[in-house]
Amino acid sequence: MITIDGSFGEGGGQIIRSSLALSMITGKPVCIENVRAKRKKPGLRQQHVTAIRAAAAVSCANVEGDEVRSSMVIFEPDKVSAGEYHFPIQTAGSSTLVFQTVLPALLTADGPSHIRLEGGTHNPMAPPFDFLVKCFTPVVSRMGPTIEFEFDRHGFFPAGGGRWSATINPSSTGLKRIEFHERGAIRKRQARALVSNLPDHITERELKTVGRKLGWPAKTLNAVRVESNGPGNVVMIEVECDHITEMFTACGEFNKKAEVVASEAVRACRSWLDSEAPVGEYLADQLLLPMAIAGGGSFRTTTMSLHTTTHIELIRRFLDVNFEVEERVANDHLVTVLS
Ligand code: AMP
Repeated sequence: MITIDGSFGEGGGQIIRSSLALSMITGKPVCIENVRAKRKKPGLRQQHVTAIRAAAAVSCANVEGDEVRSSMVIFEPDKVSAGEYHFPIQTAGSSTLVFQTVLPALLTADGPSHIRLEGGTHNPMAPPFDFLVKCFTPVVSRMGPTIEFEFDRHGFFPAGGGRWSATINPSSTGLKRIEFHERGAIRKRQARALVSNLPDHITERELKTVGRKLGWPAKTLNAVRVESNGPGNVVMIEVECDHITEMFTACGEFNKKAEVVASEAVRACRSWLDSEAPVGEYLADQLLLPMAIAGGGSFRTTTMSLHTTTHIELIRRFLDVNFEVEERVANDHLVTVLS
């Protein structure tokens, strides 16, 4: 059994989710101790419990410690089975992170799967649903599989209640290596401010801030009113290039000014625009696992976040792969996966 200290590096939920994914792919049982030790509320939250149970359903695993606040989890997977799955999170926890927990295993399964998810769709500190569709999945699809999404309803903190589904068709030849070094020319820019059960002045002020700070014209700025169980607001700034779409998001919160929310997304976007590397900070840590499963590949990214360096260390505990990181210039790193 592989023992992982959940407090190392970034010390958050990614260590749990990726340990589960790697355990399912390799068939190696794992024990995760000191779960989420570096978070304000350590231990498992409902979203992680759902992720663990989702992983257990997909791989017929024996599990111990899958309870809210638990600080230790033992996960012993059996064979991964493609199929029809439904993973509802009872809270507003991120459904996209539950999806990313089971995706690697289902990409290596021997048939297509259909997954229905419920919970938060646009959460702080998680990939928003739109990021999954426009940024993450297109890159993974270049490795061979096809993944299709159907979106039903938005879910925001604290009410949750978002609903969507995904159909995953693995490639019969497994994941193939890709080299991903250029973003190409910018084709389209747009910023969307979504609001649910909150006044229109929020999106108006957010878009005004984005337009002013990035110098983007009014036609690129769109306010969207959506249906959801409770109040919610998210700003998504999107830059579509020849070879990648990157997205920079910030979620509205009670007592946080619309201008501050928009400025957060603008800052992230500016930092990416200042570099020539295609892969942004978040996409970088999310691409490491599919690339490691493919047994190699490389990409250029802006910064090496603590999530990324922690993920590298974690993957090396399960797979016989190595990672080389070369800083080309400031804000531009070449990450190579070698086996
Ligand atoms: P953790 O904090 O360990 O639960 O991991 C959070 C995950 O969400 C990481 O894989 C991040 O890359 C991802 N993430 C956080 N914020 C964003 C964002 N704004 N856009 C895309 N992905 C994000």
